[in-house]
Amino acid sequence: RRELLSPEKLEQELCQAEDVDAQMRRLVQLFEFSEDERRLRHLLVTLFQEVFQEFLPGCSVLPFGSSINGFDVHGCDLDLFLDLEKTKTFQASPRGVPEAQCCEGAEPAAEDSILSDIDLGVALEVLEVVRTVLQSCVPGVHRVQAVPSARRPVVKFSHKDSGLCGDISLNNRLGLCNTQFLQLCTEADERVRPLVYVLRYWAKQQGLAGNPHGGGPLFTNYALTLLVIFFLQTRSPPILPTVACLQQLAGDEERMVVDGWDCSFPRDAARLEPNTNTESLCVLLADFFREFGEQELSGHVISLCEGRVLPLEAVAGAGLRLGPVTLQDPFERSHNVAANVTERMARRLRVCCTRAAKYCRSLQYQRKSAKGRPWGLVRLFQPEAGELDSDGLLLALPLAPAARRHELGLDPSSRQSWFGHVCAGVAFVLRDVLKCSCTELQRQPLGHAEQLLEPPGASLQQGETGEPPTSPTQQLAGPREPGDAPTDPGKPLAAGLKRPLSKEEGIPSPVSVSPARKRLRAEALEEAGAVSWSCALWHRVWVGRRRVRRQLRPQHNSPLAEAGTEQEAARSLDLASPEPGPAPRTELGPEPGPPPVQPAAETAPQ
Ligand code: ATP
Ligand code: MG
Repeated sequence: RRELLSPEKLEQELCQAEDVDAQMRRLVQLFEFSEDERRLRHLLVTLFQEVFQEFLPGCSVLPFGSSINGFDVHGCDLDLFLDLEKTKTFQASPRGVPEAQCCEGAEPAAEDSILSDIDLGVALEVLEVVRTVLQSCVPGVHRVQAVPSARRPVVKFSHKDSGLCGDISLNNRLGLCNTQFLQLCTEADERVRPLVYVLRYWAKQQGLAGNPHGGGPLFTNYALTLLVIFFLQTRSPPILPTVACLQQLAGDEERMVVDGWDCSFPRDAARLEPNTNTESLCVLLADFFREFGEQELSGHVISLCEGRVLPLEAVAGAGLRLGPVTLQDPFERSHNVAANVTERMARRLRVCCTRAAKYCRSLQYQRKSAKGRPWGLVRLFQPEAGELDSDGLLLALPLAPAARRHELGLDPSSRQSWFGHVCAGVAFVLRDVLKCSCTELQRQPLGHAEQLLEPPGASLQQGETGEPPTSPTQQLAGPREPGDAPTDPGKPLAAGLKRPLSKEEGIPSPVSVSPARKRLRAEALEEAGAVSWSCALWHRVWVGRRRVRRQLRPQHNSPLAEAGTEQEAARSLDLASPEPGPAPRTELGPEPGPPPVQPAAETAPQ
């Protein structure tokens, strides 16, 4: 197994690059598979193939998605498609026809197969076979779970020795086609990979993308990649051709219709016209943010086929499910790839893009810092100070509702047993290891309805006091130590979370959350179907600092006060006060980020 890259290591590596283009290329190198990882996946696919052939003669196990589309990242999931076309032919073949004639690759021992007992036309039956074979016959595979209700039913699995997770889908030839299309795009222009890698990572950091197959309100990586491809189709001159244009370029052997959709396009990038666009990666990334920050996505259809946004009327009758973001699949034209994206997430994309575009106009983005400060992509990936100021960190634990657990064949009441343990574990790490002030926002089961519960007095941010903690986590975690989890917003200072410092004193204002904010957070939780904790890190050194500041206040005529600002005075008292600029660091907390307020010298005119 390969160690995943830590954010600190990534930051270090990126800061050493010479410019943003070099940072983006370096990021790809750091994330992409090594030769060993590629080989390991190949071996796993071969293993699956051999086992499934025993039961379903003639079948093929074909990888698609990030294992082969050019956007591979260490440890990314292993998307597999079980192709049963030949097996169906084999099943339907008349008795006595030699197997080799009707089905290449069929094992002679196929009479032992289970084919006579199942109907390959019934997805649920096949899914159950796949689940059973995976669970019982593939060495090293565990945590097998069928998800029949997914848009494309899959069986999920994990592989112990490699640590890989993946899923096997049926009837997903379109998945293979769109994977080949993404592959073609990466080969068509070398800027595609760095841009997509950076935007996928950025979107994940911003809480915009990440859930595979649209299981929640976030953009899937596939959807995000299509947005980048669309953006590159709209450059002047274009960096990538439209899908309509590709269809015309397809040779006879590449003409293909899958599930009724035209999937013709050249499979070899050498057949494409070379593009004349010479924009740098640095400019393209900044422009991506600017365009998606400015563009109102609702009310239009993003069409990769035509390489432009279309009015909704243009797709009337196409069966496309319209949404806050309507991103038409390049091949399956009746499918909105972003159909799962909520209004709130679409708004969030715009806000994050606007914010990123603003940052990209600064010299901190464009130029390597001479002072060794984070610059370029590094600052782009850091959480936004203003956002943390009001929200803290939000840690969400996805949780299937009771009805869904029932559907999955899990005991709906089993939630209580593991749920308490998970809550206690997370709360222990947050409170006792990371020394966070921690508020639990927990959804309690009330029959089928579930309700958001914010334990009174548990939240510093909410400023409410009084009742003892009531949630399982709080009970398990025990009472809070006054020193560990401060309850007086006037005393300590958030350290790990980079809040903007107030102008006069460089000290952040206490956090408060408006009722509207609370409602938004509750909505977010509802959307995510999750249990969440919001937490803040606090640094005790500031307790002393505040006290001394109070002591200093009446002594206006003291030599210390005359020496300059209160900060200078405090420093001359040797109070472990940090340098102005970067936020102070907790002993156990993360490295401090960049200063929330940058010196004007490194900021370009907006
Ligand atoms: P990763 O696995 O690292 O998230 P990926 O490149 O495999 O990245 P996924 O989002 O997992 O991207 O998509 C893999 C495949 O699943 C796609 O090629 C596509 O066929 C299918 N897919 C994913 N999301 C959607 C979606 N929203 N609509 C339709 N198909 C999707
Ligand atoms: Mg995937």
